[in-house]
Amino acid sequence: MKTLKDFNFKNKKVLIRVDFNVPLNDAFEITDDTRIKAVKPTIIKILEDGGSCILMSHLGRPKDKENEFSLNHIVNKVSETIGVQVKFSEDCVGEQTVKDAANLKPGELLLLENLRYHKEETTGDVHFAKQLAALGDFYVNDAFGTAHRAHASTAIIARFFPENKCFGTLLEREIESINKVLNSNQKPVTAIIGGAKVSSKITIIENILDKIDHLIVGGGMAFTFIKAQGGQIGDSLVEDDKMDLALSILEQAKQKNVEIHLPVDAVIADSFSENANTKGCPIDQIPKGWMGLDSGQKTNAHFAGIIRESKTILWNGPVGVFEMKPFSHGTISMGIAIAEATKNGCFSLVGGGDSVSAVKQFGFENKVSYVSTGGGAMLEMLEGKTLPGIAAILD
Ligand code: AMP
Repeated sequence: MKTLKDFNFKNKKVLIRVDFNVPLNDAFEITDDTRIKAVKPTIIKILEDGGSCILMSHLGRPKDKENEFSLNHIVNKVSETIGVQVKFSEDCVGEQTVKDAANLKPGELLLLENLRYHKEETTGDVHFAKQLAALGDFYVNDAFGTAHRAHASTAIIARFFPENKCFGTLLEREIESINKVLNSNQKPVTAIIGGAKVSSKITIIENILDKIDHLIVGGGMAFTFIKAQGGQIGDSLVEDDKMDLALSILEQAKQKNVEIHLPVDAVIADSFSENANTKGCPIDQIPKGWMGLDSGQKTNAHFAGIIRESKTILWNGPVGVFEMKPFSHGTISMGIAIAEATKNGCFSLVGGGDSVSAVKQFGFENKVSYVSTGGGAMLEMLEGKTLPGIAAILD
């Protein structure tokens, strides 16, 4: 795997695909700069070698060239975070951009305008990719958030740099972290898979069953398993058409010697609301008119016990409706146990969507080994797919 360490960038103009798709408020201020901070090491390494950087990114999903999606809004914040004044090019291809790139000197940074102002970006147009490629003499992909897309700047462009291409430090870390979990010899390996639906997690579960010792199933998706086994789940979330699949997973797990842990009790509510009446209940005796919205105390204690004894942990998906305070305790309890295991030397990876928001919301971000920066990309890697953005560098 070629990474930044393998190259010296003196006098090189390096095109870096970054993921600056950051959230902006109404005043166009960045409300979370995690993605900018995440690529700082890559940029610094290139500048310190004596190279210059041309940063390419998308922002949002513009239909036309609406101002609200202009990357011009983030120039000051990027300059402040990296510690170098960033120059801005008002397009990402064309005459002026070619001039801006040509005028760039070692130690300087140029940010191109939103790639998605051109529909050729998302269609993966080769001619557009060639125009981008012509701006620099080396290509670095450090945008994990879009690595699952075969877009012009994330994958197609790499073919114009048969030798001069590599992963940035962020992408390298993402790949290493997931490999550390899926090819781990630090056992037991435990996967906690939660969230709303079995259907969105099924491919992940099937892909990881060969690689883990314990599978904790939590959140809304657990009810499909409970009902499939004959339990009464009241009005809890369920996918009736996935019950056979749930039973087949239980069977596959048995054959592969993976221990599956399902909730044994739940916090149930008489409506899907923060102000609902709530009580504890065995997981398979939920009355009609009530729904399970969080894991119960016995479940939390059992799950925490498994987690504390694990040496490798993957966490994807909350075990309750953590967005509402009365149903956040299960997810917080998972976070506490994972933090404790991590302190004792376990490697823990949190990735894919809502579990990332949960660790951030409850302050566990620095207490786990790694929090992935890519929602969809991480999910596809867990499903065992080869991501176009990664394949293009390895080619
Ligand atoms: P996912 O994107 O599939 O990981 O699902 C995350 C969502 O699942 C979060 O918004 C949670 O509120 C939701 N969730 C977790 N547990 C439950 C539950 N018991 N019932 C309904 N939704 C749930």
